[in-house]
Amino acid sequence: MLSNRDKQLKAERGYHGKSYVRPDGSEVLLDKFDWHMRKRELWARAGGQCEYVFPVDGSRCRLDGTIPAHIVPRAVRRDDRLEGLKLYCDRHDRQMEIQNWRVTRFGEKGKPVCKRK
Ligand SMILES: [Zn+2]
Repeated sequence: MLSNRDKQLKAERGYHGKSYVRPDGSEVLLDKFDWHMRKRELWARAGGQCEYVFPVDGSRCRLDGTIPAHIVPRAVRRDDRLEGLKLYCDRHDRQMEIQNWRVTRFGEKGKPVCKRK
């Protein structure tokens, strides 16, 4: 039986405990230490600021980021790699969650529901 866990990749990336890396390189960080490290990387990349970009003019949300969000919903296929994450403020996390859920469920593209102040 093929395993979906690549032990060598996990060792190379220095993950701990129950975290695992799939053979395609995607990651699931179940170990607290690993996930905290990933969050620190995410916050550093974002400079602590929400990474939502307004489609209207390409400007970025100015609020503080509070929530590490998965671009592909975790329920579909969890991947905790840095490039699979966005740091959002509460509002944009909610907004993107609704959109992703609709895309996943109904195959439609969500439209931004919140207006810029
Ligand atoms: Zn935001």
